[in-house]
Amino acid sequence: MSLAESSSSKIPGFNTRAVHAGQAFEPRTGAVVPPVHFSSTYAQEAIGVLRAGYEYGRGTNPTRDSLQEQLAALEGGTAAFSFSSGLAAEDSMIRALTRPGDHIVLGNDAYGGTYRLISRVLGEWGIGNTPVDMSDLDAVAKAIAAGGAADGGSAADGGKTRLVWVETPSNPMMKITDIEALATLAHDAGALLVVDNTFASPYLQNPLALGADIVVHSTTKYIGGHSDVVGGAIIVNDAELAEKIGFVQFAVGAVSGPMDAFLTTRGLKTLGVRMDRHSDNAQAVAEWLLTRPEVEAVLYPGLPSHPGHELAKKQMTKFGGMISVQFKGGEAAARKVAESTSVFTLAESLGGIESLMNYPSEMTHASVKGTELAVPVNLIRLSCGIEDVEDLIADLEQALDGLAGTESGS
Ligand code: PLP
Repeated sequence: MSLAESSSSKIPGFNTRAVHAGQAFEPRTGAVVPPVHFSSTYAQEAIGVLRAGYEYGRGTNPTRDSLQEQLAALEGGTAAFSFSSGLAAEDSMIRALTRPGDHIVLGNDAYGGTYRLISRVLGEWGIGNTPVDMSDLDAVAKAIAAGGAADGGSAADGGKTRLVWVETPSNPMMKITDIEALATLAHDAGALLVVDNTFASPYLQNPLALGADIVVHSTTKYIGGHSDVVGGAIIVNDAELAEKIGFVQFAVGAVSGPMDAFLTTRGLKTLGVRMDRHSDNAQAVAEWLLTRPEVEAVLYPGLPSHPGHELAKKQMTKFGGMISVQFKGGEAAARKVAESTSVFTLAESLGGIESLMNYPSEMTHASVKGTELAVPVNLIRLSCGIEDVEDLIADLEQALDGLAGTESGS
């Protein structure tokens, strides 16, 4: 019996859903782990008569279905769609829900690749955008009401705000936005609220339960969790949205392949255990960083000094594994630290079991350099892995000790 077939009306706990949703054993052999289905096509009983609903791999695939069921169960959605990358997921979803002349109001510290997609690819097709500080709800309300034409945005005149797009915590400024309040603002204006839940993961935050319409993930990050697969997902709890997004997933075909879907499913089963550890490690690292004289600011919502701390406590169960740090020694200090660690690996991406270090202004966010989304040059971003926290702190300690004599502000 699968979880879906269970007679119990109680929704199982998060970790039970993570392990079992979409993962029924294979009935022919009893294999506990469902096999990976590589076949691109399926034998038909007669013309147009399918054996088990499967016809062609772009449209549906059993391994992708397993992952989609698991994702929907963990985000509290009725439907999930798995794509070949986070940006492929975003692109297909935006194409499904907007038309030329429409407008997107998005966070002014959204992931650089998201901004590049919206401004430089979809912008060419007549989708306008206004970047705004999402933690300032008055500014958001103004931007929405103006159909995106406010605040110097690149609005097509007469355009209408169709999507309000927020990352919380945001990447890499770690701002926290009130999802419930933003959902009300968006809905009052007839717009949909999209939450990029990549940093929090469904273990720490469920935007649909807070009123969001659409959840986006780069599953490359915490959901896959092992830095060995690129993918993306969209989760919704509305039949009409599901129908529109499902159609574009099928018609465009930017789907995840079977092996990618399998690796993502395997990672997702341990999400809860990993997120507990990522969060505990990050909390300890953030508190240690606060004690260091070289540090100008530690951006981590688990710190009581963080402006979004109380809100994060309300809408998240823990504070996650991501920390941004700004250095008094400016760009030179940030660059030096980024190139001086050995347990933290200098690399793009985040959310894997291994700790990663990133210098956003030249790496993940290089595409927004010179725009209002530009990241401060004295900032590094840490993705705290699941290693022993003493080793993480010792690694950072030797890197910060090495800053002695670094010129300030250079
Ligand atoms: N959203 C966030 C918050 C990200 O950090 C990223 C990638 O870094 C993406 C979306 C895009 O995902 P992908 O790289 O899987 O296309």
